[in-house]
Amino acid sequence: MRDWVNFDAVKAAVSLEKVLRHYQVPGLRRQRSQLQGGCPIHGGARDDSFRASLGKNAFQCFACQARGNVLDFVAAMEQCSVRQAALRLQRWFAIPAPVASRLAVPHAAASLPKRELVREKEARNPALRFALTGVDFAHPYLRQRGIDRATAMEFGVGFYGTAGLMSGRIVIPIHNERGEIVAYAGRALNEQSPKYKLPSGFRKAAELFNLHRAIAAGSPTVIVVEGYFDCLRVHQEGFPCVVALMGSSLSPEQERALLQRFERVMLMFDGDAAGRTASQVIHARLAMKCRVVVIRVPDGTQPDQLPSRALEDLLSDAKQG
Ligand SMILES: [Zn+2]
Repeated sequence: MRDWVNFDAVKAAVSLEKVLRHYQVPGLRRQRSQLQGGCPIHGGARDDSFRASLGKNAFQCFACQARGNVLDFVAAMEQCSVRQAALRLQRWFAIPAPVASRLAVPHAAASLPKRELVREKEARNPALRFALTGVDFAHPYLRQRGIDRATAMEFGVGFYGTAGLMSGRIVIPIHNERGEIVAYAGRALNEQSPKYKLPSGFRKAAELFNLHRAIAAGSPTVIVVEGYFDCLRVHQEGFPCVVALMGSSLSPEQERALLQRFERVMLMFDGDAAGRTASQVIHARLAMKCRVVVIRVPDGTQPDQLPSRALEDLLSDAKQG
């Protein structure tokens, strides 16, 4: 079933002030028709970067550049699309949804501006309108996983301590092929569940992690790994043309991106049953379409757990082959 939402109706029904109260944003000071305080979106140290105009129902943060209306605010807080933000507001504040059956009547449908009615399925992940700041690139967890500070900074990966969806996790920005951030993944520091948190509505199948840097590396050969940390380690060892599937299955969209951009694919999956099977299946799928090589990591290990020397040897051998 399709969810319908009327953006203007939601904007008219919910004021920015109501939404700020919903999030219990602390420490906002009122000056005439304006609220000012620390930014609840990026959570920086400054307590005056965030301004909300109650008259205009608009906000702006001078530090992270986030700005917009009530829908943009919720989209930024929830790391979701504007459409999903509208659906959430509709639910939270019990705003009646537009009746879909009425839309089947030509007259009613024609009277509603088209752009206000957006369908459930969105093929692309929209670019985020903000970036998290105050990320700690020198957190001990990264060292534990063998990621040095320079790599962490380059990828924007680090510990996020401020309040928000990813609070207390290692945040990993995911970019589209144009290099725009489309989501943050949040890795738990311990056995906490879920191990990786992703914003609801984010379509993993539509992205290849690190694709924009792999494209910039300008090599016809791409290394494909399963996880974010495998990707970071391979990059760190001097092989920048690497992407991660963010799992062990290859979606049709990911396959298309690989075939469009590269001539040769080197699969380096985990040395467990799931990784071996995935490797075989994907090899068979791609073999007719491009050159494919399988790099076998030792049983019971995954690429990011290998010592530098072993990882480098595996990759160098495969490159020459
Ligand atoms: Zn901000």
